[in-house]
Amino acid sequence: MPKPLTRSPQPAQQRAAGPAADGFRVLDAVIFGGSASGLWILRQLAAAGRFALLIETDRLGAGQTAACQGIIHGGLKYTLNGQLSASARAIRSMPAVWRACIDGVRAPALGRGVLRADHCHLWHSGRALGHLGMIGARRGLRVAPVPLTPEERPQVLDAVPGLVCRLDEQVVSPRRLVGALAAPVQNLLLRAAPDAVGVEHLADGGLMLVLDPARTEATGARPLLLRPRAVILAAGIGNAALRAKLGLNRPLMQVRSVQMLLARGDLPELNAHCVEGASALVTITSDRDSAGRTIWQIGGGLSEDGVDLAADALVRHGRQVVGAALGGRALSGTEWSAYRADKAEVTTPGGQRPDDAFALREGRIITAWPTKLALVPRLAERVLALAAPLFGDRPAAPVDCRALGWPLPALAPPPWEGSLQWTAAD
Ligand SMILES: Cc1cc2nc3c(=O)[nH]c(=O)nc-3n(C[C@H](O)[C@H](O)[C@H](O)COP(=O)(O)OP(=O)(O)OC[C@H]3O[C@@H](n4cnc5c(N)ncnc54)[C@H](O)[C@@H]3O)c2cc1C
Repeated sequence: MPKPLTRSPQPAQQRAAGPAADGFRVLDAVIFGGSASGLWILRQLAAAGRFALLIETDRLGAGQTAACQGIIHGGLKYTLNGQLSASARAIRSMPAVWRACIDGVRAPALGRGVLRADHCHLWHSGRALGHLGMIGARRGLRVAPVPLTPEERPQVLDAVPGLVCRLDEQVVSPRRLVGALAAPVQNLLLRAAPDAVGVEHLADGGLMLVLDPARTEATGARPLLLRPRAVILAAGIGNAALRAKLGLNRPLMQVRSVQMLLARGDLPELNAHCVEGASALVTITSDRDSAGRTIWQIGGGLSEDGVDLAADALVRHGRQVVGAALGGRALSGTEWSAYRADKAEVTTPGGQRPDDAFALREGRIITAWPTKLALVPRLAERVLALAAPLFGDRPAAPVDCRALGWPLPALAPPPWEGSLQWTAAD
């Protein structure tokens, strides 16, 4: 990796022609990563009257967000042992925050179009201690399970043994969420290959980002010299390489992988957790593919325990687990597949999931991981609080990426629209 340069900042009119012809632009912030975190932070900065720009290397929502199930957890899954854990404490206010954004009474306004479902269901596999956990889980949570009468159960859960509950955790479509976050700020977004962004460390402690259109497919774009007061890394797994590029050598990131199961076909809508003991055996969320088929995205313990299985082995095993959890449902006429995804987070001593969103400021650079999609609003609040002392009193100026010819990143497709191998159920 080339060593970052060091030089003194020059005002725009003193700079030479070529890439410097436009002079440098002072911005309140440059954000790396155009997915849930980066876009949410950008919207909140814009709402606070700050001028920022977001750089995405791929497509908007690529990475974990496109792969995710979109459940706005309220902490139940972290209290199944009957204790109010640190994770549950951190996340318990999130469903109300998201609800307010979805209803448009809190910024960023998202609209109900982002919703896959207004609530989830919760049922017990019938094996091991589960009901106790579900009841203990009500302690301290703002979203608690509401037991349903047999008549109130969704039909797909008719055959499951024991208690079925409704859980007021909303489920969002990650793709529609990303679209809704990006729509009002499109002129602040640009796509640039990693190589197209150079970093210079200035003698006064500032940073200059040099965006070279010749190193990306940005034909007709003008070179950009950006002098951000804050650099915000919200690039998920890409944060590690960005930190190295910016000269931050302290390792901060861990990656936990999962292998998710997919089913498609004539399936009913279902957004639900099946609990076994003190954890979620399977978590099923529903969407539609471009051919109009229902898609079941299946995660939970199955996706963690099955991470090292070959995809066809996970499919065979997963079909049985899901069928059994649904009370012996045949699931005939369906097709099955699997995909891998990596979760990028701050390191923890035992490599466990961190309890909360994480943001750290080192000089002008803020590194951020939400840990969960549900925690993105909390992450954005922390990032804005860390960045505020860097902004100063002098106003920055807006940059219009479209007027400067830089391309708008497209929306990433969901995993089931990719080139996956599908197996028909017998
Ligand atoms: C299978 C799965 C299921 C999940 N389900 C849930 C759930 O139901 N509920 C929940 O709360 N959480 C869930 N999560 C966690 C959630 O998806 C993540 O916490 C969240 O989406 C992270 O969003 P992000 O924007 O921080 O990162 P990402 O979504 O990973 O986005 C990072 C972005 O940065 C871009 N990028 C990378 N490198 C660079 C670079 N050098 N320069 C510029 N841009 C760059 C990428 O292209 C990408 O667009 C799930 C995660 C997985 C993997």
